[in-house]
Amino acid sequence: RTAVPRPPAPRVMTIANQKGGVGKTTTTVNVAAALAQSGLNVLVVDIDPQGNASTALGIPHHAEVPSIYDVITDDRPLGEVLQECPDVPGLWCAPATIDLAGAEIELVALVARESRLKRAVEEHLATMSDDDRFDYVLIDCPPSLGLLTVNAFVAAAEVFIPIQCEYYALEGLSQLLKNIGMIRRHLNPRLEVSTILLTMYDGRTNLSSNVADEVRAHFPDNVLRTQIPRSVRISEAPSYGQTVLTYDPSSSGALSYLEAAKELALRSAPAAT
Ligand code: ADP
Ligand code: MG
Repeated sequence: RTAVPRPPAPRVMTIANQKGGVGKTTTTVNVAAALAQSGLNVLVVDIDPQGNASTALGIPHHAEVPSIYDVITDDRPLGEVLQECPDVPGLWCAPATIDLAGAEIELVALVARESRLKRAVEEHLATMSDDDRFDYVLIDCPPSLGLLTVNAFVAAAEVFIPIQCEYYALEGLSQLLKNIGMIRRHLNPRLEVSTILLTMYDGRTNLSSNVADEVRAHFPDNVLRTQIPRSVRISEAPSYGQTVLTYDPSSSGALSYLEAAKELALRSAPAAT
């Protein structure tokens, strides 16, 4: 099989979509696991107070665990909260605990409230040697555009948007693109929508293929060829604290996430503008 190349510099991507339940977390953890299984070093930063990404990666994240909350609100070095995923060597997680629910409010009063995550990630990457540095940093966002999501957009160079192949899939997307434009203008001029992934594709319905065609027509350069099927195995895996790649490695869900990750890695990051 084709080797998955290491990017020349770490790629920091925010997985975003202001709709809930579209597959952001599922895409974050499974793409991350697929990249790590291919031999890359990958970090998942969980900034959703629900902590679904931490759960899906089998990472303890009860209230006492050092977490991304301490990093964002209390300047704790990122390296002090990282945990390696038990099933996938090379895959690391900065977990979210329930404390993070208060962070939206606490951040308002803090200096540099929009760029705290960016600083923490950059400082951590600067401490890593070239051999063991992270190749990918994937940030899993909550569905709202609060200060946590703004922190993710400021920390990243790329936005990765999962789109569910369902009716109303495009609803909310123009608002998301508007918000990304606002972030570019005021806070992070290098931010680009680099990648769109169609998820929960149901090959038996015309609806799924119509939505997929419409999204591809709208964003001809950004949509990955690989589509993620709707699959029970994908939705079962998190309750075992696993990604679908270890839960059922030969399932269509696992194979499609491996394929999507390979495609992502073979398309290079957009050139800095
Ligand atoms: P978000 O993070 O955007 O809120 P999730 O990744 O948590 O969305 O997905 C929402 C729900 O859909 C979860 O229960 C998840 O297990 C399920 N799900 C996600 N992707 C698929 C898929 N390809 N097939 C079946 N169920 C899926
Ligand atoms: Mg989520």
